[in-house]
Amino acid sequence: MSRRRVDPVKKMAELLKLGAVMLAETCPVEGCNLPLFKLPSGEIICPVHGKIHVVKTDEEAREVRKKVVLTDILDRLENKVLNILSDMINEPHPEPGELSEWLDVLEKVRRIKKT
Ligand SMILES: [Zn+2]
Repeated sequence: MSRRRVDPVKKMAELLKLGAVMLAETCPVEGCNLPLFKLPSGEIICPVHGKIHVVKTDEEAREVRKKVVLTDILDRLENKVLNILSDMINEPHPEPGELSEWLDVLEKVRRIKKT
């Protein structure tokens, strides 16, 4: 491997030394989950991925994170609905109850995402 991996702990220590503040929010990059840091300049960065989004406030960071989480939930819900549908096709006596419950949830999440 030619790319050097960043040691997150070392990088976090460096960030703290620079006067960065550790936030309650974590990195939105999938599989990262490291805490985000707010630099004195107001930039929000991940110790591994660097600048994540151009967010100026904690509020904005929360909004971005919410969107990422909602997109992930929507993906999984859509998969769930598709799985139920393909199960139903194979069932001799399908029960549409479960499907309509999941479709309900899907619709609600879509509405939240739009707001
Ligand atoms: Zn990250």
